[in-house]
Amino acid sequence: MTLRLFNTLSGQMDELVPSDGKAFRMYACGPTVYDYGHIGNFRTFLQVDVLRRALKLTGTKVRHVMNITDVDDKIIRNATAAGVPIGQYTARFEKAFFEDLDSLRVERPEQIARATEHIQKMVELVQKLAAVGAAYQTEDGSWYFRLASFPQYGKLSKKDLSGMEDGARVDVDEYEKDSARDFALWKAAKPGETSWDTAIGRGRPGWHIECSAMAMEYLGESFDLHAGGEDLMFPHHENEIAQSESVTHKPFARHWMHVRFLLVDGRKMSKSEGNFYTLRDLLLKGYKASAIRLALISVPYRHQLNFTFDGLIEATNAIDRLRTFHQRLTQGDFAAGENPALQAAAKKAQAEYLAALANDLNTAEARAPIFDLIRTANTAMDQGQLLAGDRDAMLAVLASFDAVFDVIEDRDAEPTRRALEYAEQAGRQADVAPELLARQGLTDEAIDALVAERTTAKKQRNFARADQIRNELAEKGIVIEDSKDGVRWKRK
Ligand SMILES: [Zn+2]
Repeated sequence: MTLRLFNTLSGQMDELVPSDGKAFRMYACGPTVYDYGHIGNFRTFLQVDVLRRALKLTGTKVRHVMNITDVDDKIIRNATAAGVPIGQYTARFEKAFFEDLDSLRVERPEQIARATEHIQKMVELVQKLAAVGAAYQTEDGSWYFRLASFPQYGKLSKKDLSGMEDGARVDVDEYEKDSARDFALWKAAKPGETSWDTAIGRGRPGWHIECSAMAMEYLGESFDLHAGGEDLMFPHHENEIAQSESVTHKPFARHWMHVRFLLVDGRKMSKSEGNFYTLRDLLLKGYKASAIRLALISVPYRHQLNFTFDGLIEATNAIDRLRTFHQRLTQGDFAAGENPALQAAAKKAQAEYLAALANDLNTAEARAPIFDLIRTANTAMDQGQLLAGDRDAMLAVLASFDAVFDVIEDRDAEPTRRALEYAEQAGRQADVAPELLARQGLTDEAIDALVAERTTAKKQRNFARADQIRNELAEKGIVIEDSKDGVRWKRK
């Protein structure tokens, strides 16, 4: 099965096939590590995770590169304000970013590339651009890309750039829409700013040049796909294309994937609106990392997601259904044999699931047949009509679902623990939900009571409640061990 995905560049659905016949080479713009990531950032990283997992599920090898922007205008400004070197400033946020990716079960790309470790590659690219007349140096020692030298500029974002003023320049990394101007490739050193002494002068790279230099370093001059949030299409991605193709005269990335922004409660997320959330904010409110993952991936990447707390509760309930079903299958006793109706239902669900993913990564449509199957199989189990061969078929469908969605195994305790640790270090204990604190502060007697309740629930075959208790205890770092001699528990 071959995935088809909307390509911003071609304006149509295109098949995703490795052009070298070996691995699918993809680049995704990574974070600027100057603050904690918000859920809008993570929606993009999660949707790219869905892409790479779907490719792997359908048998395609992936080579995925992501950059870390660890030098730019904002980082220099914030590090200066904090009175620390930029490396010290960014290290903390880079660590937090990877912890957050782990919390959300986002797979690591095959290659992580830090901007500050590739300065020489960027310098070489500026030199090549200068050699073909696409870059020029200004009196202060900065280098700019000459937009007039690249007539295809605007082909990705389909912007009409007529009336663009030749030689008008912009030197900030991020700039407003429609202000297409010659942009900075290299910024001459300013007093007190971090800079590198190089063949093109003392200074630091602009933001756009890093992605061109590092993508081509690890993936070659022309590769399969480039991904990023929709806000990066212009000017960042347009600039990446101009910088790369001016030198190589080859298509930089053949396929461009853009993830749409999310709204929170129907409005644009912003600090001033009071609807701005980092991942850590949500974990401290007591929501589980798995529910946040599911909520952020269940709306397909090209659709606007309206993030709400009701949506998080829906995701929490959906995960409970998945986990309870999985547990029933793995812990139940089933007679040998197969039920033809259930075998057919499993096959149908699997086919519909894969077809939906293959159709522009439609995660919403991919989920639906799985939950239909769970309903059918639960009814069959209640009636004793699910047999051992059906259990295996159901588990195979769940494994295929989880290869992309990755929410069935309960790994929610660790992200919660990390978030609480962060709250303590950052002096944010006041932001921790009281219910979460209460659950964290369980006495031995309370744990004994819960463990006893779980044993009773299991005897009564109320696996949902038993699981719920086990999960709740796990979230508080309490591990239950079932053995022949009874149930034991310990604090992690
Ligand atoms: Zn980029």
